[in-house]
Amino acid sequence: TKAGRRPLVAGNWKMNGLRSSVSVVEAVRSGLAPALLDTVDVLICPPSTLISSCVAATYGSPIAIGGQNLHAKPSGAFTGSISAEMLADLGASYVIVGHSERRAYHYETDDGVHAKALGARRAGLCGIICVGETQDEREEGRTLDIVRAQLAIGVPKGATGADTVIAYEPVWAIGTGLTPTPADIAEVHASLREMLGRLIGPEADKIRILYGGSVKPGNARELMAVENVDGALVGGASLVAEDFLGIVGAY
Ligand code: PGA
Repeated sequence: TKAGRRPLVAGNWKMNGLRSSVSVVEAVRSGLAPALLDTVDVLICPPSTLISSCVAATYGSPIAIGGQNLHAKPSGAFTGSISAEMLADLGASYVIVGHSERRAYHYETDDGVHAKALGARRAGLCGIICVGETQDEREEGRTLDIVRAQLAIGVPKGATGADTVIAYEPVWAIGTGLTPTPADIAEVHASLREMLGRLIGPEADKIRILYGGSVKPGNARELMAVENVDGALVGGASLVAEDFLGIVGAY
């Protein structure tokens, strides 16, 4: 742990997985060394269609199940949408908010992310608020400005370590096999921690800041060792039990 923060390794399956994929959750469950679960929180965010069966497959284990997105409102005439209350009702305990794919393909704004983060808190879910710069923004030297602004607007007032997690995911690192250097990640995470302090005061030290973007078993140890990195948000490698277990095993 860093400063008493319990690390979190979270898998984001994105739009992957049919009912047969619940076997991946079962394999993660049976492959996790009990000692590891004393050290690290483990979360899997399958597509909404599989939440119920993944909750059943992890019943009685400390593995948490989460959603990948939510509607900000609790209920109403929003065809096709799912609320935080609905996710909680299924047994989900986390939800990813403002993933860059939602921002890019579903036009989510920082204000929208803020509303969704409030929705997650209302329903008692822990919101994983994602921030990250594009390749162009990095090349223009705007990384810190971008992620700090995303954080300042997205994070609800009164956020706590229990209801909020931040994930730094450079857009250019997602699904590309590219990662920033440990020094670059350390710079961003320190800046995010400092900004959190401005926003919510001393509670900032309790909020976990994950790194995401091409985390694999082979680089997890190096990435997770970086100062202020409190875990990982894992896409592609979370679809294969052995790979995901390898990343959790970095702790
Ligand atoms: P990746 O995705 O691990 O496949 O790069 C990370 C994410 O989008 O959360």
